[in-house]
Amino acid sequence: MRHGGWEMETEVHKSLENVPYPFHNGLIQNDESINLQSAKDYDSLIILRWRKRECKSCQESFDIAAEGMMYKCGVCIDERN
Ligand SMILES: [Zn+2]
Repeated sequence: MRHGGWEMETEVHKSLENVPYPFHNGLIQNDESINLQSAKDYDSLIILRWRKRECKSCQESFDIAAEGMMYKCGVCIDERN
């Protein structure tokens, strides 16, 4: 049923090990925000593991541990709803 699931997880783990930041609570603790395109270019397997991200709507940095969803900050998500 979950064909290939184990291999996929192993790949993600390998990617996370190569990131030069600590990994805590399921997130990469990067200190400078990363935007969606850079995250894709860096490693498409771990796009949603970065903690500090740049909002794709307003380009402001935000902390996904505190607000926001995917690559949108809390403010832009509120405006849409
Ligand atoms: Zn925003």
